[in-house]
Amino acid sequence: MFLSISTTHSPATDLGFLLMKHPDRVHEIDIAFGKATVFFPQADAERCQAVLILDLDPVALVRGRGESAGVMDQYVNDRPYAASSFLSVALNKAFRTAMTGVSRERAELALMPILLDIVVAPLPVQNDDLLERLFAPLGWRVEARRIGGADGPSRYVELRLSGTLRLADALSHLYVLIPALDADKHYWVGEDEVEKLVAKAGPWLASHPDRETIARRYLKNRRSLARAALARLDAEAETEVTASALRREEALEAPLRLHDRRLDAVAALLKESGARRVADLGCGEGRLLQRLVKERTLETLIGVDASSRDLERARERLKLDLAGGPSRRRIRLLHGALTYRDARWADVDAAALVEVIEHLDAARLPALADAVFGAARPKTVIVTTPNNEYNALFADLPAGQFRHPDHRFEFTREQFADWAQSVAERYGYRVALSGLGDDHPEHGPVCQMGVFSR
Ligand code: SAH
Repeated sequence: MFLSISTTHSPATDLGFLLMKHPDRVHEIDIAFGKATVFFPQADAERCQAVLILDLDPVALVRGRGESAGVMDQYVNDRPYAASSFLSVALNKAFRTAMTGVSRERAELALMPILLDIVVAPLPVQNDDLLERLFAPLGWRVEARRIGGADGPSRYVELRLSGTLRLADALSHLYVLIPALDADKHYWVGEDEVEKLVAKAGPWLASHPDRETIARRYLKNRRSLARAALARLDAEAETEVTASALRREEALEAPLRLHDRRLDAVAALLKESGARRVADLGCGEGRLLQRLVKERTLETLIGVDASSRDLERARERLKLDLAGGPSRRRIRLLHGALTYRDARWADVDAAALVEVIEHLDAARLPALADAVFGAARPKTVIVTTPNNEYNALFADLPAGQFRHPDHRFEFTREQFADWAQSVAERYGYRVALSGLGDDHPEHGPVCQMGVFSR
């Protein structure tokens, strides 16, 4: 299979820097199931073309699979020749750095849209419309030419894409959409494919008009996985505004040092609960985890959040990748949506949701309750949320507004009590309600807390 990337961006030879491949050399890259070769048929100031040819080893492809249906079938099919998920694996290996959008030598160029012309062949596609639907919304002009077989047009096309895009974006489009075009279902798709899809396509898939089709086809029609991927992309998009907006809430509450006190209180309760494995659901920048790390009785800490940016900050705050920082086995940060059952945090003894529920649409609360109280069922769950009645006491907050522009709702004491009690009843928990921070005789506490146990 064949992939060509060319540019007329001037000087065109910069393509070699972006791809981290010297245009004068032939580069051979070993992959588990074959070999990729990258070379540059043309590399001058006007135009530069990089070609990747992937040779699959049909024997390596079936090795270790045992005798499944039809021995010959395993060897005699189009896997070794047709562009498919194998091409994505090869792209990721050959152009790994370019895919991240980072370049040491051409840092600015890596961030810049440049004129690109891409050819992929042979690509198995049943209907040509699909190509247009998948690529055009991303900014590509799409041309497909059916490759003729001995008996007329074959099921393969030569696809040509042209457009002005960042190289890293172009590579991530190919990485996701080539396997999505491939209707072949005979290889195993696991949970880690959801990870790859969200990691590679996150920035553009969420707003793609055909996102359902792409997720479903990429995940080979495993609908539950496709739903999981989309839920995560949605949650990520919804939290975009959270970080900056959080500062305003902090400013309002700052004089009370409320957030620190709230986190101290929750950390103390988690410790007292006797839990060994704790999940901080909606961990944000990791402030609660930072406190929990100091508690030696807590053996495993899991932070879950839908915002990759917040998780990145949490990683820095916790010094996760640094010498002397906590071990990766003890703390895990997971990108995930809390409205979706998730096996990665299903076996914790305790979970905290500190100032999280009010960031979800009220209509999504039943899904959150199902994932937390119905599926994971930790012995202890601590939920904190603002008390809307107290807002009247913030001089800087116009009447009727929430503390934070990203809050979808804020419960009064009665509303929180109703919600907490109905969740407890439905899922077989007891709940104790209390307040945190200043407690006003009429308006009640600044913040409210429910400690659920079973
Ligand atoms: N618990 C943290 C952060 C609170 S802000 C603290 O107290 O400091 C709310 C957090 O919930 C944000 O980081 C936001 O990204 C996350 N969040 C909102 N909706 C989510 C969802 N559906 N799934 C996962 N995380 C979500």
